[in-house]
Amino acid sequence: MIKKLKFNELGLSKEILKAVADMGFEEASPIQSEAIPIIAQGTDVLGQAMTGSGKTAAFGIPLIEKIDPKLRAPQALVLCPTRELAIQVAGEINKLSKYALELPALPIYGGQPIERQIHAIRKGAQIIIGTPGRVLDHLERKTLSFKAVKIAVLDEADEMLDMGFRDDIEAILKTTPSTRQTLLFSATMPAAIQYLARTYQRTPHIIKIAHEKVTAPAIEQFYFEIESFRKLELFTRLIDLHNPKLAIVFCNTKRRVDDLVTELRSRGYAVDGIHGDLTQQKRNKVMDRFRKGDVDILIATDVAARGIDVSNVEIVFNFDIPQDEEAYVHRIGRTGRAGKSGKAFSLVGGSEQYRFRDIKRYTRAVITRLPIPSFQDVEEVKINKLLDVIKKVIDERQSESYAKIVNNLVKDDVTVVDVAAALLKMYMRKK
Ligand code: AMP
Repeated sequence: MIKKLKFNELGLSKEILKAVADMGFEEASPIQSEAIPIIAQGTDVLGQAMTGSGKTAAFGIPLIEKIDPKLRAPQALVLCPTRELAIQVAGEINKLSKYALELPALPIYGGQPIERQIHAIRKGAQIIIGTPGRVLDHLERKTLSFKAVKIAVLDEADEMLDMGFRDDIEAILKTTPSTRQTLLFSATMPAAIQYLARTYQRTPHIIKIAHEKVTAPAIEQFYFEIESFRKLELFTRLIDLHNPKLAIVFCNTKRRVDDLVTELRSRGYAVDGIHGDLTQQKRNKVMDRFRKGDVDILIATDVAARGIDVSNVEIVFNFDIPQDEEAYVHRIGRTGRAGKSGKAFSLVGGSEQYRFRDIKRYTRAVITRLPIPSFQDVEEVKINKLLDVIKKVIDERQSESYAKIVNNLVKDDVTVVDVAAALLKMYMRKK
């Protein structure tokens, strides 16, 4: 397993560190920890990594650090298979370069008016992120030149080859200086990728995020597929349905933790959050309240959760799907301790499906998909719980003194059943 580092252990500029802090990243993902220092020192990298591993920042951060802000010409080139990915990568790089560079990265893809792109290139764009077809089009029109390119990235290279971009990629790379640094990222490493690496890279450093096999038999694992914006609603239903005495909820960033704490508190849940920005004293305080049960739901980042030791967590929730499977295993390992059984629920948003599929594959655990519980399901469970309580009260004859009051209410057109139903309705509303 690759060691994960803090961003401030990676020798980054203060501008980048500030941007990373704004993005709420708490620590570097495995691929970032390994790739950033190697790319920074100028070595080519051949990386086998999927979307969701944090690979964009892994190449984006050192790429930004290599840009000379004064030189207004393309110095870095990223080739992507689709316009969606080009836009996404440009967005991520722009967030990361917010303090370091004046000019934003320029996405260049087919379907957009070429004049607008030409105008943006003339303004001095330093980072070009494009799909091969349109980039080549610009090169042929001579509206774009890669003479000053220091670093070229092939992102999702296997996808680009599957889409028939091989000749375009080669033609584009040939217009860049042979002294450039070349990074190649691909989810798979077929022969055609190895050919590209052999032909266009200089003894690349190979990074493969290793996958450990892990099992956690005492933990029942489930997942839901849900649009990201509906996660909060689903989460509150799950809490209402399962009513855990202690639950830990994992988010991927500090900001997500803070936001979720605010949202849940405003809905009346007893929650608190911990993440790396809190002082040790504050963390201890939160943990004390959690252990004592003053707080039922603890929302945490991976880093903050690492040091905590609580034995009777009933449910672990992955509000965000983690970036690597080791983190998934660590997270769900917070439950099912000391011979007790536990449950883990993962809320898989649209864009997280591939990453979750990888997690499932590599952990080889049985993770069962569940249907989204409806509002009626939640009501039914609440009512059944209440009925159990009512039966107990009756059995223990605790309610005899109230029987007279009910009797007074009962008339010709009001039955005992009416009274009970009205009380039930009032109770459910209150909840
Ligand atoms: P990628 O694999 O580059 O597509 O990144 C997937 C998602 O993870 C993006 O939304 C990133 O903003 C986010 N991300 C990247 N690095 C980190 C990190 N170190 N901590 C938390 N989130 C991250």
